[in-house]
Amino acid sequence: MNLSSPATQKLYDQNPYGKTFEAQVLSCCEGEKSHKGQFDIILNQTLFFPEEGGQTPDLGLLIPLPSSPDLPAGASPQVHVLDVKIKSGVIHHFCDGPLAPGTPVRGSIDWERRYDNMQNHSGEHIFSGLVHSAFGYENVGFHLSERTCSMDYSGPLTREEIDRLETAANRIIFDNRVIDASYPSAEELAQLDYRSKKALSGPVRIVTIPDCDVCACCAPHVRRTGEVGLLKVLQIQSYKGGTRLMIACGMRALADFRRKQSVLEEVSHLLSSPQEEAAMALSKKLADLLALKDALHEASARLLASDLAVLDPSAANVCLFENGIDPIRLRQAVNQMSAAHSGYCAAFNGSDSDGYSYILSIADGDARILNEQLKERFSARGGGSAAMCQGSLRASRRDLEDFFSAL
Ligand SMILES: [Zn+2]
Repeated sequence: MNLSSPATQKLYDQNPYGKTFEAQVLSCCEGEKSHKGQFDIILNQTLFFPEEGGQTPDLGLLIPLPSSPDLPAGASPQVHVLDVKIKSGVIHHFCDGPLAPGTPVRGSIDWERRYDNMQNHSGEHIFSGLVHSAFGYENVGFHLSERTCSMDYSGPLTREEIDRLETAANRIIFDNRVIDASYPSAEELAQLDYRSKKALSGPVRIVTIPDCDVCACCAPHVRRTGEVGLLKVLQIQSYKGGTRLMIACGMRALADFRRKQSVLEEVSHLLSSPQEEAAMALSKKLADLLALKDALHEASARLLASDLAVLDPSAANVCLFENGIDPIRLRQAVNQMSAAHSGYCAAFNGSDSDGYSYILSIADGDARILNEQLKERFSARGGGSAAMCQGSLRASRRDLEDFFSAL
């Protein structure tokens, strides 16, 4: 990285709604480490917000202007900005192509992504300001990417408290209050009570939401709280003695609502129940299912007992086919068979389509010999001791019966 460049002028500071800008390439060198294969381009000024303060960077394009000295007339080999970092005040644009130093460029940021970040970041300030004034907790961790907006608060919050905070946050959004971002003088700053994640030096940018929040922040924000649209808490978890929340604002909240609405519509259709009663209908279905499972187990056990009763008592080798028997009961059955038959005793549990699990035993001999034969003949997987082996295989019942009767 070129560290000798002057600090990049942050156009997004004064103009968070700017979508395009013009600038000059100061330097371009090959990217290193995680940016290998990319080009590290430094401009004199930029609208690209870098990855900073827990927020992912802006993406977009840099397009050489027609007046560029190195370009043939009409050529526009634009480069994509794939990542943006800041180091010692210098903003590095990592791009998929090079641009010669001195080239005048037009930059264009992915506005939808940026505005989405602005809505969610402003929403985070509203919520964190409310948490701070109501409970005195700090936001000790913030992560904002295209998928997630999460905050870690330094103390516990109950579901009821979070519901009340969510309602209060949305009231502030509907109030459409002005959000101000400015750099107070050192004297003004000394008088100011503001939230900050770390000790700051140099000029400090303060973002103020009247009667809600005052916070040091480097990121672009929406002009008014109304632009946040809606703030919805999506997930709550206890985290390191505090609380981790995931929220969605603006179009993200709408997209989340749509996704959940479509799941609920499908579930309520499958259950033939009104949406409001879907949870109750599902819990009744699950209770019915458990009762059916119990009934099935009982019926299977009765079937197993009658299958055992009809085994030829004079046969040395015997085998059983069952379906849906629990393994403990199957093992008891094989023990029972071994007590009455001197040869190989096998129980197969399953079906031709799903495959079988099996248990083999022999009262006086080595069950592993038969197990090896099953491996060879049916690619069975399993093992065990001389007295008993277990495994699974895929085969038809008919083939298994033929194999067994040929023993
Ligand atoms: Zn912030």
